[in-house]
Amino acid sequence: MKIICVGRNYSEHAKELKNPIPSEPVLFLKPETALIPNKQPFFYPDFSQDIHFETEIVIKINRLGKNIDAQFSHKYYEEISLGIDFTARDIQQRLKDKGLPWERAKAFDSSAPVGKFVNKANFSDINNLDFSLKIDGEIKQQGNTKEMLFNVDNLIAEISKYFTLKIGDLIFTGTPAGVGPISIGNHLEGYIEDKKVFNLKIR
Ligand code: ZN
Repeated sequence: MKIICVGRNYSEHAKELKNPIPSEPVLFLKPETALIPNKQPFFYPDFSQDIHFETEIVIKINRLGKNIDAQFSHKYYEEISLGIDFTARDIQQRLKDKGLPWERAKAFDSSAPVGKFVNKANFSDINNLDFSLKIDGEIKQQGNTKEMLFNVDNLIAEISKYFTLKIGDLIFTGTPAGVGPISIGNHLEGYIEDKKVFNLKIR
């Protein structure tokens, strides 16, 4: 399986990192080794001093698809969750300054924890979902999918022009504003609406 991530999909987040608003989705990949096995902690890597959380709605692909028309995108996923696109911001800045690819900053081991998957039928509108991240019991980041520049259906259409989607592939749909650093000892909890979908300890 592969993890396809969308960058700068919320205008307020693009602004907070002083990036331009994109005219097409910014896409990058993470390998399978970026997942964190269920209930395992995230171990702060020694190559970075500035790991940031980015809280993102995650879509799990359940059908093989290529060149999917946006009006049929909804047939290609049944379950959604919330994940963290962990980003080594110090490394990313260094790479961006040189115009180099972001993989060292974005695709490292354990950089993509994902919560438990919930059937989308539990939610009335995928394009109007509140989600949030608590750190040590305090809300640190929140967003709503209606603020996406490219919605889930359009993302699936665009992504599948370039990458054949396979069963089990995950799409990280981008982070709203409010990203920030994590520290060893933190306890992260993710919510979609009022459903808690993950617990993650930072070690
Ligand atoms: Zn992200």
